[in-house]
Amino acid sequence: MINFGGIIETSTLDYPGKAAMVIFFRGCPFRCIYCQNEHLLSGNDLIGEEIIEAKIRDAKIFISAVVFSGGEPFMQFDPLSKLASYAKASGLLVGIETCGYYPEKIRALGERRLIDSLFLDIKAPLDDPKRYEEITGVRNAAEVVKESLSYSCSADFNLEVRTTVFKGVIGPDEIEKIARALEGFDGTYVIQEGISAHLETFSYNEIRRMGEIAATHLNSVRIRTKEKGLETLNSGSR
Ligand code: SF4
Repeated sequence: MINFGGIIETSTLDYPGKAAMVIFFRGCPFRCIYCQNEHLLSGNDLIGEEIIEAKIRDAKIFISAVVFSGGEPFMQFDPLSKLASYAKASGLLVGIETCGYYPEKIRALGERRLIDSLFLDIKAPLDDPKRYEEITGVRNAAEVVKESLSYSCSADFNLEVRTTVFKGVIGPDEIEKIARALEGFDGTYVIQEGISAHLETFSYNEIRRMGEIAATHLNSVRIRTKEKGLETLNSGSR
């Protein structure tokens, strides 16, 4: 059974360059101060995996990937692993969005080659556990996410690392620290404009400037803003 949070039948935004079905899992170990998916953090809507499998089967001629999102999909490891196996057996790519709090489970699925792309949130500089805790509400979050990052950098799936920015929470200084710490990493780093009713957001130009700062350290940087969607600032060697 999966504690099901919802579905987007076809999205062109959630798996770069691919049409994807997005499946949301309920539950998350974090309580981020800017969470946009608060309705998925608790509650129960238990359904059998076969219902989701039927949806994947019906959609597979229209999509080329399935993205598991949440909440935190790795919190429900058995249904996640079952549905990822089903998607792969159906010839589809598997993408998973994660907060990185379950490194052993990421490794377990990675070693079974059930991940094509991992979208890993880095919510604050990983060498600043206090800040990480302030944002996520979880004391050891930075330490655990560091383990997920370390494994994922050496795994043979695509890795996209993402940071969401808000004024007074995570801005240019933190982006510079995160990008510096990621130096040498050959995946993509995405800086995302946050959306919140109670936090102040950055302008397009401010986010673009953060992207340019990150691009001085990293080979592949993108920004995602309300104004212009997803933009590539650099890709390939600097
Ligand atoms: S990790 Fe994502 S779903 Fe979980 S609380 Fe944070 S923003 Fe919300």
